[in-house]
Amino acid sequence: MNSIQDLIEFARIDTTSAKGRGEEGAKFIKDYMESHGIEARLIRHRSKNPYVYGEINVGASKTLLIYNHYDVQPAEPLEKWNSDPFQPVIEGDKIIGRGVGDDKGSLMARLQAIIEMGRPPLNVKFIYEGEEEIGSPNIDSFLNDYRDLLRSDYVLWEGAGKGPSGAPSIVLGVKGLLYVELTVRTPKDLHSMYAPIVTNPAWELVKILTSLKAEDKVAIPGFYDKVRHLSDEEIMFLKGDRKSMESALGQEVPNDFQRKLVEEPTCNIAGLLSGYTGEGSKTVIPSYAMAKLDFRLVPDQDPEEILSLLQTYVKNAEIKVWGKVRPYRTSIKSKIARSLIESAKEVYGVSPEVIPNSPGTGPMESFARILQNNQIADGVGVEHPGSNIHSFNENIHISDYHMSREWMKSFIKHLAQP
Ligand SMILES: [Zn+2]
Repeated sequence: MNSIQDLIEFARIDTTSAKGRGEEGAKFIKDYMESHGIEARLIRHRSKNPYVYGEINVGASKTLLIYNHYDVQPAEPLEKWNSDPFQPVIEGDKIIGRGVGDDKGSLMARLQAIIEMGRPPLNVKFIYEGEEEIGSPNIDSFLNDYRDLLRSDYVLWEGAGKGPSGAPSIVLGVKGLLYVELTVRTPKDLHSMYAPIVTNPAWELVKILTSLKAEDKVAIPGFYDKVRHLSDEEIMFLKGDRKSMESALGQEVPNDFQRKLVEEPTCNIAGLLSGYTGEGSKTVIPSYAMAKLDFRLVPDQDPEEILSLLQTYVKNAEIKVWGKVRPYRTSIKSKIARSLIESAKEVYGVSPEVIPNSPGTGPMESFARILQNNQIADGVGVEHPGSNIHSFNENIHISDYHMSREWMKSFIKHLAQP
């Protein structure tokens, strides 16, 4: 096995799911597993790109399920790349190409580590998706249909790499999401001279939006009731670097930004639309005002409950729901978290950054609920903060790639210990 060359060969296959590509990549990885003695097959579900399933059953009492995806984001704009995104190149310690970080690099590094182990000390199942980059539209129904096949004690998520501090990062959960659209309407646009006697939907909407926040907090009664606060140990493992965060965002951030990113649920205005916004003036009372809002929710808030609190609180607007995802967080005291932390210390010689839940959203809770598994965690990834994933000149360090293979082996050994 030539670890880097094999990754490059995999990354040469265009698996842009947004363009309906992926089949060839799925076959490549299935064949790769089989050629290294791992039982593998393609599972055709409702999805266009097949799932790739693999298994090493050593008859152990515990099973690790490894989740990765072989699809990639579109490489456009192509003119921004210094080389062909699907002809990966090596420059010094870097490999540059679409997917070398997200997520083919992590997929391959983990798989190669297990192949090198020969006979791992626990059973390993692999599930590779081909639709992650288009939002995993079929993952819930897939998990439901194959819950027995995927039964496991631990789930390793797609691959958190190094954080801005340079330490390896471990992510134990995700925030959830409630996405709504609020609309206020009247029968028709009117001349603004009628303003003293009629309702203006734009003003009504502004009042509603203002009522949603007080100081910096969300003002919807009951909104914070289910928030699970961080423990002292969880706070201790946070490692944000304020300077690098500020330079990444182009704004000042508070001292405790890392804790806020993890622990605070949000009410964000994502879009606003009303009235005349063209050039010059038009004196009109608009008949319509709309706002799109996303609420990032933390464990143990439930999007259904938050929606019903919102519906009770906001009386004068139509509420349309665009999305609901539940939050998820694995305990830092769990076996999988302990094993990731200990193995990271052993391999990198530093204490890892442990993020109790990502400030973003993903379908971790689906895995937890459908597979009845409460030990799901992310780590053992190949990316670094400058990896440009989803962007142009996506890259990883070859040294990071090899380190994550070592991390994988150490993690599995720790996980298999009683
Ligand atoms: Zn991605």
